[in-house]
Amino acid sequence: MKAMQITGFGGPEHLHLAEVPTPEPGPGEVRIRVTRCGVNPVDRSQVLGRWTWLELPHIPGSEILGVVDKVGPGVATVSVGQRVGVALRLFCNQCHYCLRGQEQLCMADPRTTVSPAIPGAFTEGGYAEYTVVPAMNAIPVPAGVDDDSACAATLDGVTAWHMIERARIAAGDRVLVVGASGGLGTLFLQLVRQRGAVPVAVTGNIAHSAAFHALGAEAVIDRTAGNVVDEVRVLTDGRGMDVVLDPTGAASWTASIGALARGGRYVTCGILTGAEVTLNLAPFYAQEQEVIGSTGGSRRDLVDCFDAISRGIFKFPIHARYPLSGAADAMSALSDPARLGKVLLAIG
Ligand SMILES: [Zn+2]
Repeated sequence: MKAMQITGFGGPEHLHLAEVPTPEPGPGEVRIRVTRCGVNPVDRSQVLGRWTWLELPHIPGSEILGVVDKVGPGVATVSVGQRVGVALRLFCNQCHYCLRGQEQLCMADPRTTVSPAIPGAFTEGGYAEYTVVPAMNAIPVPAGVDDDSACAATLDGVTAWHMIERARIAAGDRVLVVGASGGLGTLFLQLVRQRGAVPVAVTGNIAHSAAFHALGAEAVIDRTAGNVVDEVRVLTDGRGMDVVLDPTGAASWTASIGALARGGRYVTCGILTGAEVTLNLAPFYAQEQEVIGSTGGSRRDLVDCFDAISRGIFKFPIHARYPLSGAADAMSALSDPARLGKVLLAIG
């Protein structure tokens, strides 16, 4: 089969198309003929060399949609020909957290210490014509969900869906969406509005303003033009934001915490711009603020996400689709200032 492999660390130029053996499913596994694979920061961080344990060559790709092509011994839950999305975490289905339906907190994998492994990061992924995953991870896609959306639901969709749940957003809440142009940001705007709350977009590209408003934003803050905290205070009569959804990490921490209202909740699901931050506990406790972590989502989140898409509750803006051979260009497109929404590989 054809696959895009990471052959060295540095940048997308280290992605190369290769002919490799088609993988065979073992007991409890299925082989998927990949039709879509999302291109995400988690893939780029592997090419950049931030996953120091990664053995090369490696096939990245953690946001996977396809059709079951072959099932391994003992698999009875899915069958050949079924269209499936791949659940985001490799999980045991037996530990305390899995039994509670929180596979994103599974503690069975000795390779990881802070959260369970991700297909395509700890296994060969979806930048390929075929990939093998545990049958437990192959989640059937309802007919009413198109391929692009079904693919994007498996990583961005569940991550946004779960993070909105973790944020406990209530009708009327003022919600700051940091990184509004990204795959997650474009979903946050819609899901916040759908809950009767009021999203405000923060962006580095004000040219996207009209698109943000169309997705539900009540206001747009250009982080390159002024002080985000000052802008937030003006927009909220000095009160601040009830919720800040910030998937970007350390670079925006000071502004995001500074933008919080009394009783406000800062919610994070990523460390793209760094993991280490400092927090002044004095105003934090005195104003009853919260910092909330959120990581991916469960199979239930994915099923709920598919259902919401099929009912038209939200949609995935697609920035661009590339063929498998264009994966390096696709990865470069992630950092294109003009990007709005998903970057996908359309395979086969
Ligand atoms: Zn588990």
